Amino acid sequence: GEGLPRPERTRVIVVANQKGGVGKTTTTVNLAASLALHGARVLVIDLDPQGNASTALGIDHHAEVPSIYDVLVESKPLAEVVQPVRDVEGLFCAPATIDLAGAEIELVSLVARESRLQRAIQAYEQPLDYILIDCPPSLGLLTVNALVAGQEVLIPIQCEYYALEGLGQLLRNVDLVRGHLNPTLHVSTILLTMYDGRTRLASQVAEEVRSHFGDEVLRTSIPRSVRISEAPSYGQTVLTYDPGSSGALSYLEAAREIALKGVGVSYDATHAHIGA
Ligand code: ADP
Ligand code: MG
Repeated sequence: GEGLPRPERTRVIVVANQKGGVGKTTTTVNLAASLALHGARVLVIDLDPQGNASTALGIDHHAEVPSIYDVLVESKPLAEVVQPVRDVEGLFCAPATIDLAGAEIELVSLVARESRLQRAIQAYEQPLDYILIDCPPSLGLLTVNALVAGQEVLIPIQCEYYALEGLGQLLRNVDLVRGHLNPTLHVSTILLTMYDGRTRLASQVAEEVRSHFGDEVLRTSIPRSVRISEAPSYGQTVLTYDPGSSGALSYLEAAREIALKGVGVSYDATHAHIGA
């Protein structure tokens, strides 16, 4: 792929929003594939017991597969569960199996229950430019583990009514984790998803989000696209399923914007509104 500046050290980006169906998983896998196609080495950590990110990346995650559950609860090294994603060079996945549904409870009685993912990542020796963590739709111990492990939070926001509702709770959790466990954590990125620029509502919500969050909101938004929603059932990201589609191009552009922002290079927004 075309090269982009690589970060000096691994950027660990937590994709979180406790609301379900806002595009967390879709954003995690498509952004990860886009960054890899731009030449980066990228690991997706699937932290949702549903395992949707694993499915979308075509990764086997039936109950016996070594998974992020083993890492969190059994202290298995992360390297022993990471699998390469076929068709996308430089892209890897630590899958989630259904076991993870029990982890929320099992973690409670373990030592350093909030920092088990952080420790696993710190002990992982393969060079990586990005780690993207796909969170479940809740603010429990799995999401807390992600927030302790990361430096950045990426919040996908669906341009609908109530888009901002509930975000206060996530932002308070980010503040709490920053104050007590992880001083470098910050909300670095807001991404507008399923954006339909033809509707008044979408542009009103987008305006509200931009006035609330300012520069954290990416100039690039992700349009609503059937191709994006079809790709997971083929075990593919939209980047390989339909590389020329507006969905694929918008995630490539979002990845470019994130990569440039990370090294302090200003972003030329000429291509920020693909298909939206
Ligand atoms: P979350 O992980 O936050 O629960 P998902 O990423 O699973 O959300 O997305 C919810 C649903 O919306 C999925 O069926 C997904 O295919 C669909 N979807 C996500 N983004 C788009 C988009 N840009 N265009 C069309 N459908 C989308
Ligand atoms: Mg999800």
